[in-house]
Amino acid sequence: MTPSAIAYRGRFAPSPTGPLHFGSLVAALASYCDARAAGGQWLLRIEDVDTPRSRAGAEEAIVAALARCGFVWDGPILRQSQRQAIYADALERLRAAGAIFDCTCTRRDLESAPMGAAGERVYPGTCRDGLPQSLTTRSTRARCAQRLRVDSDVVTFVDLLQGPQRQDLASEVGDFVVRRSDGLFAYQLAVVVDDALQEISTVVRGADLLASTPRQILLQRRLQLPAPEYLHVPVAIGSTGEKLSKQTQARALPENPLPALLAAWRFLDQPMPEAAPATVADFLAFATRAWSRVRLPPVPMLPAPRGG
Ligand code: GLU
Ligand code: ZN
Repeated sequence: MTPSAIAYRGRFAPSPTGPLHFGSLVAALASYCDARAAGGQWLLRIEDVDTPRSRAGAEEAIVAALARCGFVWDGPILRQSQRQAIYADALERLRAAGAIFDCTCTRRDLESAPMGAAGERVYPGTCRDGLPQSLTTRSTRARCAQRLRVDSDVVTFVDLLQGPQRQDLASEVGDFVVRRSDGLFAYQLAVVVDDALQEISTVVRGADLLASTPRQILLQRRLQLPAPEYLHVPVAIGSTGEKLSKQTQARALPENPLPALLAAWRFLDQPMPEAAPATVADFLAFATRAWSRVRLPPVPMLPAPRGG
């Protein structure tokens, strides 16, 4: 099926842990142009499921910066912090299917577990066959994390930019957390539920999430939800090789975002306009027409432009 034959729905899903910066602008611009170039919709979702990491005013700052950039989203903004009941429902379905188990391991308990290819510790399976009797009191269970049981699940998919991907979840990730011991739902569960309920056809986001995608595909299978297509664009890295992120204090966009939009466009190796656009609206109209998937650099990371 050609992209125009399906109803394209894309999204941008920032976490409100700080202001919009060059790295997140690249993801916003790529997801926007890919959706609009296909005549599709583009939705905005605030991923504030991890409430302790959310910063006061960050959501407002991100939304204001996106508006200043000229992005227009379809429908109301969805906020994960208001969707606990929906995630709880998904968790119940997993539990009823025998797909999850309680885990009482502390961070300390897992310190000696080997590092997986995804850069996280592989869960050694400590609690997967049931907790010791002494620990199964009601109060312990309330403080338990819930993990999705991973068996011999090898996930393969073809990323629209990065090409064929394969992850052996058992050896590279292990059983993974879907609800944390503090009661918060994990990003992996929330994002899968929301992408499905919002009928997202195509996820365009930074390649730092490439290693999370097989977990999300496994959750889609366990919950019998459709899988969107994935396109992971390169992430911008700083001079010492670290990902630009709100946590590493990447700078907020300046008042006039047009130079940053053009820098993000160049970062994605897209065809430059002949004459400099006068306004962000002019730029986005051009960008939507000129957007070229085949010109995107098929690599997971690239140096950020200087001054970004
Ligand atoms: N909320 C995630 C972030 O800001 C992005 C999640 C996604 O696009 O799936 O890194
Ligand atoms: Zn455990």
